[in-house]
Amino acid sequence: MTSLRVGFGYDVHQLQEGRKFTLGGILIPSEKGPIAHSDGDVLIHAICDALLGAANLGDIGVHFPDNSEVYKGIDSKVLLRKTMDLINDAGYKVVNIDTTVNLERPKLKEYISIMQTTLANILKVSASEISIKATTSEKLGFIGREEGLAVQAVALISKEL
Ligand code: MG
Repeated sequence: MTSLRVGFGYDVHQLQEGRKFTLGGILIPSEKGPIAHSDGDVLIHAICDALLGAANLGDIGVHFPDNSEVYKGIDSKVLLRKTMDLINDAGYKVVNIDTTVNLERPKLKEYISIMQTTLANILKVSASEISIKATTSEKLGFIGREEGLAVQAVALISKEL
């Protein structure tokens, strides 16, 4: 018998001029980047929370506190690898991930494929199991004003019983 579990993740970061913009494990050319304790990879943070939620293992803040020097400026791919270790230790593997990035600028279309490959390698699935969708907020609210971005993610994990 196979146990299937679904999890949901959500993350927001503020954007500031002149900061590096890392999303989905890659650096994207942008005038603004997230203010964060880590590298501020909102997509990876939302995926980590979706995976942790699916296994009911708490949240990203529990495992990687944002007041710890250990995680200051850390590459979020390291956090995703550590999250995968937790999921694997609990006996689960990833089935698929679906995400929506809510961001006014820049357009992400040309980066989606490399983000999928980058994340798939860490999550030990094929790139076709990683969905990354992009939308804007139609100039409404903090995202519309380009003050921040948000990502929502769902993850399905499975374990053979
Ligand atoms: Mg975050």
